[in-house]
Amino acid sequence: MADDYQMPTGTLMKGKKGIVTGVANHQSIAWGIARQLAAQGAEIAFLHLPGMERRVQPLADEIGVKVLAPVDVTDDGAMDAAFQTVKDAFGQIDFFVHAIAFANKDELKGSFVDNTTREGFLRAMNISAFSFVDCARRAAAMMPETGGSIITLTYMGSERAIPNYNTMGVAKAALEAAVRYAARDLGPKGIRVNAVSPGAMRTLSLAGIQGGRGMLAKGRSLSAMKEDTSMEGVAGCALWLLSDLGKSTTGECIHVDAGFHIMGFTEDEAEG
Ligand code: NAD
Repeated sequence: MADDYQMPTGTLMKGKKGIVTGVANHQSIAWGIARQLAAQGAEIAFLHLPGMERRVQPLADEIGVKVLAPVDVTDDGAMDAAFQTVKDAFGQIDFFVHAIAFANKDELKGSFVDNTTREGFLRAMNISAFSFVDCARRAAAMMPETGGSIITLTYMGSERAIPNYNTMGVAKAALEAAVRYAARDLGPKGIRVNAVSPGAMRTLSLAGIQGGRGMLAKGRSLSAMKEDTSMEGVAGCALWLLSDLGKSTTGECIHVDAGFHIMGFTEDEAEG
């Protein structure tokens, strides 16, 4: 977030408890979202990748997060233990943030057709798409009868062929479809399920994609607003969807990308 950004404080999340996954460092999108939720009164638990404790604990301390549990989402036993830790501490939860993705570096470059392996494809699908289904089921089981709200993070590489995004684009397409099916199943229980689709942002995940810096620059120059996607905007969208402001919105994929996804071709290209 910009150094001079005044985080909107308030009570939109007062009395709400929930889980935020995917905080790895201060650049993580999950961290921007967690800060904004905490500034609106949310009580948060972090589920983080094992081995990240030294980086995650100081961030947790900064916003008063007292419940932390390590989890690799491909490990069913670790998932059981992590959700139990939150259940023991909170009882019920009102919201869940899924901000997890992974694909082998070798598959995030060059030709999708030539470089995609069975092992890499299934690994990306498992961590980036199936984990959402698994988390949604476990989170919904901890939500009260009044319902709750679940979000995940996706990228426009699911809808269009973006250079080097490759296997991750296919996993994100599965993730977005999973959001719609989960929204259908959980809707009668008052649980809303949505995806936020930011433009490229400077995080660890972006660094794993060949030409990640180019994705940032192109995202900016090809966007309607000619600017980078802001953490403030992404966190604000998450706050809307996770608070009662988001009532009646479910199954959606909301783009927060300075208008990157609406553009056809550029003025220069139009002139030939
Ligand atoms: P990040 O690297 O900070 O976050 C990714 C997180 O996934 C990390 O915290 C990592 O520990 C976690 N993770 C990976 N494998 C895991 C596993 N097996 N078990 C548990 N956790 C695991 O990067 P980010 O950019 O903040 O990514 C968060 C989400 O936002 C991802 O879904 C990403 O695809 C999405 N997204 C990112 C961008 C971008 O440009 N950075 C744009 C749109 C969407």
